Amino acid sequence: MTLYDVVIIGAGAAGLAAGRMLYESGRSILILEARNRIGGRIHTNTDFAAIPIEFGAEFIHGDHAVTMDLVKAARLHTIPVVRMGNLRWSDGKNPARPLTRLPDPLQKTLTAFLQAYEQLPQANLPQDVSLADYLRGGGWSGNDLAAADVLLAQTCCASIENLSCHDLIREMKADTAGHGESRIREGYDKLLNWYRADYPIEFNSPVQEIHWGNDRVKVISAGHIYTARTCIITVPISILQNGSIRFTPSLPSDKQWAINAFRMEAATKLIYRFCERLWDENLTFMAHTGLTARWWTPSYSRGEDAVIACYITAERAQQIDGLDETTALEIGLRELSTLLGIPLSELQKGVLAYKRLSWAADPFARGGYAHVPPGMAECRPLLARPEASQLFFAGEATAYDTNPQTVHGAIESGGRAARECLSRALIV
Ligand SMILES: Cc1cc2nc3c(=O)[nH]c(=O)nc-3n(C[C@H](O)[C@H](O)[C@H](O)COP(=O)(O)OP(=O)(O)OC[C@H]3O[C@@H](n4cnc5c(N)ncnc54)[C@H](O)[C@@H]3O)c2cc1C
Repeated sequence: MTLYDVVIIGAGAAGLAAGRMLYESGRSILILEARNRIGGRIHTNTDFAAIPIEFGAEFIHGDHAVTMDLVKAARLHTIPVVRMGNLRWSDGKNPARPLTRLPDPLQKTLTAFLQAYEQLPQANLPQDVSLADYLRGGGWSGNDLAAADVLLAQTCCASIENLSCHDLIREMKADTAGHGESRIREGYDKLLNWYRADYPIEFNSPVQEIHWGNDRVKVISAGHIYTARTCIITVPISILQNGSIRFTPSLPSDKQWAINAFRMEAATKLIYRFCERLWDENLTFMAHTGLTARWWTPSYSRGEDAVIACYITAERAQQIDGLDETTALEIGLRELSTLLGIPLSELQKGVLAYKRLSWAADPFARGGYAHVPPGMAECRPLLARPEASQLFFAGEATAYDTNPQTVHGAIESGGRAARECLSRALIV
């Protein structure tokens, strides 16, 4: 039986990053992946439109994100996209308009709470509170908080009432990626295909059991037993929470506390392809407080195609997931008609294809990405902590020293776990 230096569980961004570092340092590794593909919550589709469409992660967040260096090394290209700086807002009755064309009080309110959010790291908050309570302290309520939920909490795949300020502050201080955003012109999958090194990956291999604590780790998947000196676990927190991987012996109680502390909410995209672009070419981001709260344009700056997408999370995504697909897509089209100021019949005539993507229904993701409720901010470093110099933890939820919830956070967490594994597990 082969004895690996490291078995890595999961071939998403974190697992591939850990794999690459360990492989390049000459260790024998194996990745066990439940799906039949690499990428996990990065999933580029090439059938829906002439351009690659991101069913999962779409943007690179930050001009200095580690992902940017990889894009350059892989000789791929990015398309810069300004979203918040180019926001168009709708009151739900009128078409979405740039902030400068909104009524004065609304313009001031939106600008002010976005500034209050930016100032969060300077806030004096000895007790952790929710983002909603922090903003309430600044005098916002009612419709203002509803708007903040759309513009701030939806991005974090959370409700504004359940988002820890201490965790947000930690992230804002730790993330050095900067502010610019972009898409990868060729698609995220091209980056991962380049990034993946020449190590073995067993696909269709969901791990069910991990035996640890002796001098070897035994990983059991679909009746096969894999033996290694160490193991790096990169599966989403939802998979650790639902107990589909059994640890023998059980994980320490504080680790189990950390696992249970996270919340992972639904994340859903509604994507539409039209026969021609029915919106002006500068449109990058529209939002309102309706069910389909946030919209953007995957075909922005590409010319060839006309694709627009709604991305919602948490309760909104749950509601949309609870409808049949056709009804969900019709609601999207109806709200889009208001946002664009185009008759519904015209949109219905022009739409060529549409699709709903529900990540909560994906058995190996079971949601979008993890967030931390108020009072639980210690859970990230605890989740990341190695156990017995034998089990190492990576994945976006563990990214306490960078920006979790992102691809670059996942990649950095994989690198961190690989370094810990090399330095602590003495696999020389
Ligand atoms: C809809 C959506 C939009 C997003 N948009 C962005 C964005 O624009 N920009 C951005 O930076 N980030 C975005 N993200 C977040 C980003 O996708 C994730 O943070 C990142 O991809 C997570 O990588 P990971 O390796 O930690 O986890 P994953 O990608 O989930 O990888 C874990 C792997 O483990 C596998 N697995 C699960 N269970 C088992 C098991 N029992 N045995 C073996 N393998 C298993 C899974 O199949 C998966 O391949 C988005 C996420 C979603 C869902």
